[in-house]
Amino acid sequence: MEETATRHRGVSGPRHQDGKQARTMHKCVIHAHTNYSFDSNVSPQDLIDAARREGVSCVAVTDHDEIAGAIEVRESADDLTVIVGEEVSTADGHLIGLFLNEWIPPGMSAIETAQAIRAQGGLVLAPHAFCTLADDCLGEAMYGLLPWLDAVEICNAQSPAPWEDRRAATFAQQHRLPVYVGADAHLRGRLAPCYQMLASVDSPTRFLESLRSARLHFGRFGPWYFARMAFRHFWDLFRDQRLPGFGANAPKRIPETA
Ligand SMILES: [Zn+2]
Ligand SMILES: [Zn+2]
Repeated sequence: MEETATRHRGVSGPRHQDGKQARTMHKCVIHAHTNYSFDSNVSPQDLIDAARREGVSCVAVTDHDEIAGAIEVRESADDLTVIVGEEVSTADGHLIGLFLNEWIPPGMSAIETAQAIRAQGGLVLAPHAFCTLADDCLGEAMYGLLPWLDAVEICNAQSPAPWEDRRAATFAQQHRLPVYVGADAHLRGRLAPCYQMLASVDSPTRFLESLRSARLHFGRFGPWYFARMAFRHFWDLFRDQRLPGFGANAPKRIPETA
């Protein structure tokens, strides 16, 4: 397993002094879930605690088809820069919007969803675009999305299939798109197996500019994480009720798809 991120733990901390950022670089985790997602057991406070423990100063919270969890994290932690995001279940696969003010409904096409994200000034990110072990990926729809794509996820830390990441990296390189590493953290415990060091996260424009010159720290969750996620998945397949703690804050409108 690739575990480079652990060596850099604490590089940049969520430290403010007199209301100003004491450090210039942000240790930023992109793509994190809370229990506002049906498949996560991370409460907003769990996420904040993990961020403080791991020296994360910025986190883009991206629950499945929900922004209320991200807003709760933002309102509960003055020492953490929180980007409100959503991992939208489009008709073509998962698509992430960052810097959102309003909830975006699932079920639209990927292009309609991207337009809705842009209409409120947000950024359009493609997570786990070429996955092979699940069916919630954009795949070929990525080509139609090219005019709207702001960044491509080239590491998904909760996927045990590195060839998926390589295909996404090749796509991004071919189309000269900015890239990022996505934690896709769903479970209580570790938040930042991978992260990026960003110069600014103040606005969508500056975030994207920073991403173009960011240092990316690759890493992946370990076997224990994968085992727990597999157990949760099979529990959902064979039991009527969710595994205790999972989706505790998920609204009823969330589709029960992985
Ligand atoms: Zn996803
Ligand atoms: Zn996700």
